Amino acid sequence: MDVKKYVRDVKDFPKEGIIFKDITPVLSNPEVFKFVIDGMIEDIKDWNFDTIIGPEARGFIFAAPLAYKMGKKFVPVRKPGKLPYKKISASYDLEYGSATLEMHIDAIEKGERVIIVDDVLATGGTTAAIVELVKKAGGIVEGVYNFAELSFLNPREKLNDIKVGSLIEY
Ligand code: IMP
Repeated sequence: MDVKKYVRDVKDFPKEGIIFKDITPVLSNPEVFKFVIDGMIEDIKDWNFDTIIGPEARGFIFAAPLAYKMGKKFVPVRKPGKLPYKKISASYDLEYGSATLEMHIDAIEKGERVIIVDDVLATGGTTAAIVELVKKAGGIVEGVYNFAELSFLNPREKLNDIKVGSLIEY
C-alpha cells in the first residue's frame, strides 16, 4: 500500500513557508490506519524495550495502539501544566523561543528500556528533549520510531548515536 497517498501536504501551516504533513487522512481510513500500525509493529518487533513513550498530542495516536498491541507500558510526555503529579521537564529551542515537555517523575524506573514513538520526526528537537527526559529519569533509550520522517530536515543530526526508524520517509 502506498501510505504516502494518505498524507496530505498543507501549505503555509502553521505559518507561511511551512508545508505541513497532515496525517488525518491516514486516521480516517480504517484499512490504512491498520496497515500503518501493523507495519510499525513489524519494523520494531525485534527492538529490546519495555516501554513506549508518546508525546502529546499526535504521538499518542501512534504510541498507544503500539503499546496495546505489543503488550508494552505506555508513558505520556506532555506540554507544561497538563500532567497532574510531580514532574521532570526538559526544554528545547524552537525557531523562535523555546518549548518545554514534562513527564511524571515516577513514569520510568532506573534501567528501564524505552522507545519514543511520534507521528512526524521533523527537526528532531522534540525527540531530543524526550531523550533528555528519559536520561534524567535513569532510563535507557533503545531507539526512536516514527510514522513519518522528514529526512530533508536532518533530524538524525540531533539524535547522535541513537537508533532511528520510520515507516515512511520524505
Ligand atoms: P521536531 O521537534 O521539529 O522534530 O518536530 C516534531 C514535532 O512537531 C512532532 O511532535 C510532530 O507532531 C510535530 N510536527 C512537525 N512537523 C510536522 C508535520 O509536518 N506534520 C505533523 N506534525 C509535525
